[in-house]
Amino acid sequence: MGANIEDVLKTEASCSNCQACCCRLEVMILTDTGVPDVHISLDEWGGETMLRLDDGWCSALDRDTFMCTIYENRPLICREFEMGSYECSNERALHVLASC
Ligand code: SF4
Ligand code: SF4
Repeated sequence: MGANIEDVLKTEASCSNCQACCCRLEVMILTDTGVPDVHISLDEWGGETMLRLDDGWCSALDRDTFMCTIYENRPLICREFEMGSYECSNERALHVLASC
């Protein structure tokens, strides 16, 4: 059952129809890509992560278009999270299951 959901999601993977579910994940800022301070949160160890708002999404996400508003300055982790990858399919599967 889970494998079938994952297969379907993988073939249909598109950032425009998944409500940016990966932008709800914790995103550590490991390198300086120029993320604006207003979108940065300091964790208890002093590490920098992308700020997430009460609705769960990263504060840099446009809630209407589900597009990243700091695309040119997005963190390294966001650059490496490829649409259609295993991680992407996994998040989409979890998102679908959570919506059922
Ligand atoms: S990378 Fe994958 S999980 Fe993230 S917004 Fe795009 S399709 Fe959705
Ligand atoms: S920086 Fe952009 S791509 Fe990365 S989690 Fe936030 S909205 Fe998504």
